[in-house]
Amino acid sequence: MRYSFAVLFIFMVLALLACVSVARKSYKKIGGTVALLISMLIPPVIGNLIIILSTEKLLATIGCYIYFIGMDCVIMSLMHFAFEYCVVKWPNHISRYLVCGLVTADMIQYALNPIFGHAFDTEAISVDGRPYYRLVPYWGQTYHRIVVYGILLLIVAIFVYKLVRSARVYTERYAVILITILLTGVWQSYYIFSRTPVEKSMVGYGIFGLLIFYFSLYYRPLTLLDRLLANMASDMQDAIFFYDADGRCIWANRQAINLIDLKDEKFDRSSELLQEMFGQKDDFDDLEWTCSRVIGIGDEAKYYLQTKRTVTDERQHVTGAFLTIRDVTEEQKLLKQERYNATHDSLTDLFTKEYLYECIRKILDENPDRDYMIHYIDILDFKLINDVFGTDFGDKTLKGIASFLREHVPSDGVFGRIGGDTFGVLIPKEAFSEKELEEALQSFSTGEGPLDHHVVIHVGVYEVIERDMEVSFMFDRALLAMSTIEDEYQTHIAFYDEKIRKDVLWAQHISAQLKDALKKKNVVPYLQPIVDKEGAIVGAEALARWVHPQDGFLPPSSFIPVFEKNGMIVEVDRYMWRCACEILADWQKQGRDLFISVNISPKDFYFMDVASEIKSLVAEYKVAPSKLRIEITETVMMTDIDNRMKVLENLRQAGFIVEMDDFGSGYSSLNLLKDMPVDVLKIDMKFLAKTTDEKKARTILQNILQLSEDLGIFSLTEGVETHSQHLMLSEMGCKLFQGFYFAKPLPITDFEEFYQKNLAG
Ligand code: C2E
Ligand code: MG
Ligand code: MG
Repeated sequence: MRYSFAVLFIFMVLALLACVSVARKSYKKIGGTVALLISMLIPPVIGNLIIILSTEKLLATIGCYIYFIGMDCVIMSLMHFAFEYCVVKWPNHISRYLVCGLVTADMIQYALNPIFGHAFDTEAISVDGRPYYRLVPYWGQTYHRIVVYGILLLIVAIFVYKLVRSARVYTERYAVILITILLTGVWQSYYIFSRTPVEKSMVGYGIFGLLIFYFSLYYRPLTLLDRLLANMASDMQDAIFFYDADGRCIWANRQAINLIDLKDEKFDRSSELLQEMFGQKDDFDDLEWTCSRVIGIGDEAKYYLQTKRTVTDERQHVTGAFLTIRDVTEEQKLLKQERYNATHDSLTDLFTKEYLYECIRKILDENPDRDYMIHYIDILDFKLINDVFGTDFGDKTLKGIASFLREHVPSDGVFGRIGGDTFGVLIPKEAFSEKELEEALQSFSTGEGPLDHHVVIHVGVYEVIERDMEVSFMFDRALLAMSTIEDEYQTHIAFYDEKIRKDVLWAQHISAQLKDALKKKNVVPYLQPIVDKEGAIVGAEALARWVHPQDGFLPPSSFIPVFEKNGMIVEVDRYMWRCACEILADWQKQGRDLFISVNISPKDFYFMDVASEIKSLVAEYKVAPSKLRIEITETVMMTDIDNRMKVLENLRQAGFIVEMDDFGSGYSSLNLLKDMPVDVLKIDMKFLAKTTDEKKARTILQNILQLSEDLGIFSLTEGVETHSQHLMLSEMGCKLFQGFYFAKPLPITDFEEFYQKNLAG
């Protein structure tokens, strides 16, 4: 029997060694503590093994030393383990050092036993017919027992404390270890106190070690997991149904029960109720799916997102499934609202530009056989409406247009707001009636009673012919058509037609070539003589001509308005001014005392510093500023008056003569004159041309001339075509004259020839 126990102990030692090695490698924090405890269990087992096997007193005594000192180590590491496993802290350092001191003292007194013999001795008895050395305890052994049992009691107390204080799901992990400690303790105590030969309680050490190993490192209480998962499922916002492998519902959380109104938790009925609610059958042949469901319509609609997942075991056999149903109504509503906000204008509730373009594209693509028209709608003087009546009234006007569109655009058309005061419409061609639209526009007004204000609306119409063109380009065309409206208050509608198309192409054509034309000097200055009362030439106006290699001789009317629109006039003017300076420099050398007037477009003021540009030019060519006259039109003064006045004043200060061109052809009032920093008034004869009433014309001219005289402004009449006109104007006191009667604009050499003849004549 001794030998069979010895073999058993050897196996136990090997098993404990294996546990130590695994525990040391464990990623868990307690792994090291467990490894230490289990490794400490080995010396007492070995000590006992030696005692069992030895037939010699000395060997048995050595076994006893290993056994008892090992026991001290066991109790110490068990205590360390208990504190870690139960997550308990020492109340203070003193208590900890006290316990350690007691154990250390025990080890020391064992070490002194060979000298004093105070702890124990062994006595030989016969077991299985062979000597067995049994322990004979003295007072040192008693001390050892007090220390060990004392600490054991402390350890038991810790476990009991945890057992009582912890949630029920955790009791298992403490109870198992506590019971093992108690059983092993009792078993060993039996052997110690009964002094029964061959101590077998070491088997308990082995079992104890293995249990510690398992519970500390691998054990996960299933009930705990169950509880946690169940709690999580119950707390979920989503409804969740659990199914067994046969597709029977076995459990559902509170949300799920409420969702399908599952009475008395009869889970079996859930499939049937789900089908009633969502009109679907849970297809459990499909392992996984996700789908959206809508119940109800309009504002009452509820949106759900359903997901089914299947649970399989390691052999891929279906062990169950679960279905989650999430109420996504709020998210959907929010999404819808966001989509609405992104596609609708907040003030008018109409489509935004981007969305309108998108819709138009879609309609055109989906109806390839239908003809459509694009309308670009603009409110005339909307800024003025805002300024005069206030922004509230402005907003009201915009809303009024939105209502107007809702009322007039047929359902198969589409409309939206494409800018501040601009709107866009697409309507089928057959639904469009110019007459009806014109009538509707004429009667459009906003406000009530005394605030009733007639709002002028302009509409540019483009018939969609090039369907593949980008929608924004279609609107550009409609806008282009609208911008051709000249008689702003009488005409409301303009169509994009062949002429507009040609104009655009022409503008693109010449704009692309201007730079090159200036470089090659294809743009040339023509000079139109300016004469005094006696007919003597005193100067000339420089007028641009484009000698185009393909398109021939181009008058300024064919390119100046284009460049004035797109701003390229700046290039032309800068070039013309340089040409004028060149000519003047040349004339100066030849002793010709003549001036040249150059034209300045309103756009020049936007894109350059007119004053410094002109000043640096005359400086470069060393021309007297008084020889380069500056012609501006009244449109120059229509915006940014103060600054423009400063520029002109600046030029006059520098010695330039500023002329007001085309006076009388625009809206200028005589009133403007008194503040204008101009030296010469160029009166346009053309504005009197159509007037049949000669007398009236005379009176007007007379007055203008008189006024300029009074204001100290020099007068020049242009467009003089006849001798009688010249005579009449001279009598009225006009000082200078320009017109076909004297000469047309001439190339430089022709002008110079003409001048020589004039001098001679
Ligand atoms: P404008 O500055 O008022 O120039 C006078 C225009 O009247 C010239 O037309 C001239 O040929 C024309 N004219 C002169 N005498 C008579 C006449 O007795 N009867 C009639 N019916 N017309 C007469 P043009 O050269 O075609 O220039 C037209 C306009 O083009 C100019 O009007 C000016 O506003 C603009 N322009 C011409 N060259 C330039 C330029 O280099 N820069 C700028 N910004 N504008 C220019
Ligand atoms: Mg002019
Ligand atoms: Mg003029």
